[in-house]
Amino acid sequence: MELKDNLNKVLEEIEQARRHSVTGQEVRLIAVTKTHEAEIIKEITNLGIKDVGENKVQELKDKIGKLGNIVNYHMIGNLQTNKVKYIYNKVEMIQSLDRIKLAEEIEKRAEADNICVNCLVQINIGDEDTKSGIEYCKTLSFIYDLLDFKHISIRGLMAIAPNTSDEKYLRSLFRKMFKMKEKISNENFEGLSMDYLSMGMSSDFKLAIEEGSNMVRIGSKIFGKRIY
Ligand SMILES: *Cc1c(COP(=O)(O)O)cnc(C)c1O
Repeated sequence: MELKDNLNKVLEEIEQARRHSVTGQEVRLIAVTKTHEAEIIKEITNLGIKDVGENKVQELKDKIGKLGNIVNYHMIGNLQTNKVKYIYNKVEMIQSLDRIKLAEEIEKRAEADNICVNCLVQINIGDEDTKSGIEYCKTLSFIYDLLDFKHISIRGLMAIAPNTSDEKYLRSLFRKMFKMKEKISNENFEGLSMDYLSMGMSSDFKLAIEEGSNMVRIGSKIFGKRIY
């Protein structure tokens, strides 16, 4: 019951924020199930959730192995190049594309299978040493380089905001992300879309949505504190 209540509360808050947002766009909810048992994914699919996010390849692989395709899986964590092979053809989206080396590996695998892998470009919006993602100011040149990869479909941008309660600062960062998304959209690059701006977690998703996010990744607010 608690899970259902938590989820309903989150959905309500998403809807409320959407109504006050700069775009008014629908928001896609990614339920972040990291550290929780695979069983919980079954429970939330029964509650209507269609997308889950995991930040570790091993855990993602295990859960896909157990559950199969009952839900769309999103890789949202730092991805090592040598682990691409375990997930590239099983996920809905890789949200953490932030290096050319990683793009080369995804491209190589996808080309061999003749498939296209959806990716978001991750930006280190707070300029934090501890976070992955490319530097904000290098986004456009990175995107230019990615245009060569015909088996990677860039679908938008992703960011993890710094852990702070400074709303003004957070809003300014989310706004910068939105600006970048618009800027890239306006370039009309062939084979590239800016459908998604993935930003906002349990602590900051309302601000993120108001500033133009249309994909939020929420864990603890739905599932409670993580087990480890
Ligand atoms: C864990 C995680 C989230 C969700 O965090 P919560 O604070 O539990 O909502 C979102 N995005 C990424 C990349 C994560 O690793």
